[in-house]
Amino acid sequence: MINLEVPRKFKPLIDQAHLVAVEIFRANSRKYDLAEHTYPKELDMLAAAMDGMAEGGVLGEAGAGAVGSGNGDARGAGRKAGGQSSGSAESGNRNGSNMASLLGLIELCWGDVGLLLTMPRQGLGQAAIAAVANEEQLARFGGKWAAMAITEPEAGSDSAAIRTTARLDEETGEYVLNGEKIFVTSGDRAELIVVWATLDRDQGRAAIKSFVVERDNPGLKLDRLEHKLGIRASDTANFVLDECRVPKENLLGSPEIAPKGGFSGVMQTFDNTRPLVAGMAIGVSRACLERTRELLEEAGVRIDYDRPAHLQTAAASEFIAMESDWEAAYLLALQAAWMADNRKPNSLQASMAKAKAGRAGTDIALRCVALCGSLGYGEGELLEKWARDVKILDIFEGTQQIQLLIIARQLLGKTSAELR
Ligand SMILES: Cc1cc2nc3c(=O)[nH]c(=O)nc-3n(C[C@H](O)[C@H](O)[C@H](O)COP(=O)(O)OP(=O)(O)OC[C@H]3O[C@@H](n4cnc5c(N)ncnc54)[C@H](O)[C@@H]3O)c2cc1C
Repeated sequence: MINLEVPRKFKPLIDQAHLVAVEIFRANSRKYDLAEHTYPKELDMLAAAMDGMAEGGVLGEAGAGAVGSGNGDARGAGRKAGGQSSGSAESGNRNGSNMASLLGLIELCWGDVGLLLTMPRQGLGQAAIAAVANEEQLARFGGKWAAMAITEPEAGSDSAAIRTTARLDEETGEYVLNGEKIFVTSGDRAELIVVWATLDRDQGRAAIKSFVVERDNPGLKLDRLEHKLGIRASDTANFVLDECRVPKENLLGSPEIAPKGGFSGVMQTFDNTRPLVAGMAIGVSRACLERTRELLEEAGVRIDYDRPAHLQTAAASEFIAMESDWEAAYLLALQAAWMADNRKPNSLQASMAKAKAGRAGTDIALRCVALCGSLGYGEGELLEKWARDVKILDIFEGTQQIQLLIIARQLLGKTSAELR
């Protein structure tokens, strides 16, 4: 049965993540918000230190990799659950790499979500690799910084509509990719890009496969880097794939087009990553709440948990309401991660966590800006930055509206064709 207390074994991991959040992320937050497209070189040192800590076991069983696997490394958790769990299989209560990633991410994103998203040797692509790569591919690609390229100009929320094609050149034993990919997080900085492409557009979703492309492949042409509202420390790249050739061994998963199950299998990997994106929003909004509380207290506002909210000042009452909203998001994320660790189907809970945390995170950040008045809106504080940063967490890996659609389908027992 789920226990909503933080497992004791993860305390060292959380403490380490918090230290990193304070010393490196917070310390460089504003610098890389202002210097968009400049690589945060401080992260190289951090990545090396985290590798060392993981090898030396300093971070305990959960490992630094789990902390840094922020943008989705936990997709591979299913494979590793046995090796990274606490609790016993008999008691049916594991706290494994999904929970470790969630708790670590909350801390790191309390520091800075943009910097987290540009941590070397991580990335959403590594999640896909961990989830479906074979042993040979794991040896070649594991541990490398891998971005994920799904979105196209004509395919955003409806990822089954992608037009990038992959053609097998029998003579050379290579796949030849052609198309356009946009909004690729870490696309410029990563070593690898996992590209979604279709083997045959007439065969719909089942023909969509993912291919690992080396960043320096001459057929992968950087078109431009986005200028963004928030997470400016993280690069977002647009690419053209022009006769981009990759060895056929770079296709992840089966090359067969299986009419049933193929695409849904790919989509299920999001069940592990959506709670993590929820965790990012939970981390950012906790930062907002903590700073707002300090500023309110400095202004003489007292928040009293022993008195009903409606008998307190409007500011205190609003603060308490925001904290409740935050708590609901946090508990939903814990539940979804716990279910992933315990191999329980969690599509519904993963989407609920992401929908709730995305909306609550955005809402809390903006209300904190408002509550703190001119301080909240100025660059002297990080509140205005957090309000800009948090919005992306309600957009990527499925927008708010798409999460609600998934939840409705699950509750009503409808397919994606029946409810869209
Ligand atoms: C900073 C940033 C980083 C990103 N990183 C990546 C990445 O690393 N890899 C990657 O592949 N993609 C990435 N994306 C793309 C992101 O996942 C998409 O922006 C997102 O999926 C939405 O797609 P879209 O922008 O095309 O919007 P659209 O799909 O065109 O949607 C526009 C609006 O319509 C709503 N909508 C769409 N369909 C429905 C529906 N059926 N019912 C109700 N409402 C609907 C949406 O919720 C949204 O509000 C990133 C985007 C940004 C901004």
